[in-house]
Amino acid sequence: MALQAIDARRLSQMLVFVAGEIARREAELNALDAAAGDGDHGITMRIGFEAIRERLGQLDPATPVDAILRESGNAFLGGTGGAIGVVMGKMLMAGGKALQGVQEIRAPEFLLLLNSWETSVSATGKVKPGDRTILDAIHGAASALTASDATKKDLDVVVDLSAAAAQEAARSTADMLCRVGRASRLGTRVLGHPDPGATSFAIMLRAMHDWITSPTALDTQL
Ligand SMILES: [Mg+2]
Repeated sequence: MALQAIDARRLSQMLVFVAGEIARREAELNALDAAAGDGDHGITMRIGFEAIRERLGQLDPATPVDAILRESGNAFLGGTGGAIGVVMGKMLMAGGKALQGVQEIRAPEFLLLLNSWETSVSATGKVKPGDRTILDAIHGAASALTASDATKKDLDVVVDLSAAAAQEAARSTADMLCRVGRASRLGTRVLGHPDPGATSFAIMLRAMHDWITSPTALDTQL
């Protein structure tokens, strides 16, 4: 049975599950980053999600959905350095703003969340789709949902669609040159390797889908 609505308690559990998946993929993310940079992307993502996990464990159990997202963003931002820390932190906080007053995340709220993330990352990172960044995966996911009239579908179907689109978009960054950031000096050296940020985002969405559709994952402890 897949969950069809994520309330505040479930959202915290899901984020903890995502944190575990990011930690499990740390070495792979570091290796992707080493192709174009300093090889620390997996470390930064793990530390950011560890900060989220720690913050969630300290929150009042009655903390609502929007505050959980804001606190998660704040924790990621405070716990990490570098551009990705700011981008991810502000992205999660923007999600909290977009879901203000929401009790449960269903397909329409999930689409709102993805759209708010795309707007936030585009503004914070000053990037466009095609710049070979995390935005490519977010844009791919959000576009796939918009194109498929996602708000009429079940949550697990929508999250699956978005995760598949994000993964496809992350893969396609292997053919893109960097136009922003330090890696833009590397030129064609990055070709053949997917962008680590886009890959992280695809992992996040796939982990969310795995959690929503796995009965054992529903017992994830904070
Ligand atoms: Mg790096």
